[in-house]
Amino acid sequence: MRCPYCRHADSRVVDSREAEDGALIRRRRACPECGRRFTTVEEAVLAVVKRSGVTEPFSRLKIMAGVRKACQGRPVDEDAIALLAQRVEEAIRARGVAEVPSHEVGLAILGPLRELDEVAYLRFASVYRSFDSLGDFEREIAALRSEASRSDVDRAEAKPTNGRHPDTAAAGANQT
Ligand SMILES: [Zn+2]
Repeated sequence: MRCPYCRHADSRVVDSREAEDGALIRRRRACPECGRRFTTVEEAVLAVVKRSGVTEPFSRLKIMAGVRKACQGRPVDEDAIALLAQRVEEAIRARGVAEVPSHEVGLAILGPLRELDEVAYLRFASVYRSFDSLGDFEREIAALRSEASRSDVDRAEAKPTNGRHPDTAAAGANQT
C-alpha cells in the first residue's frame, strides 16, 4: 500500500491485529522511504442486493443521502443524519452476513429515523413502503400516536391542535 505521507508506492506490515471480534483487521505499516508509520483497516465488503439482483457495496453515504432527502425542511442537522447512518451500518454489520437485501437496509433505517423525526419518518416510509392511499398514512400515524402516548404523554404531538401547517395537516386531520 502507498505511503500516505510521502506517496512512496509500497509499505511494510509491521503488526496485524484482529479487532471488533474478528470483524476487521488493523495493520500497522511502515514506509521504507520516509520511515513513518500508519494504520490500515481491512474488513469484508458488505454487499447490498438490489431487487434486480444486482449487488453493490454498502454505502453509508447513500443512506445519509436518502435520510437527508426525507429530512428536508425539518430541524435535523447533518450530525444527526451521520449518526443515524452509523447506527444503521452497525446494526447491519452486527448480523455478520456478507450480503443484505436492499429492502432490509430500508427497514433498518425506519426505526432510528422514527426516533429522530416523525415527519421525516413518514416521508421515508411512504416511499419505502409504497404508501398508495391516505389510509396507509392514517394507519402509520395512528401507530405513531399510540406509541407516543404510551411512551411520553407530554409530547407536543399528543396535544389537540387545529394547526394546518403542511407538515402536520395530515396528522391534524386524523386527530380525535
Ligand atoms: Zn513514506
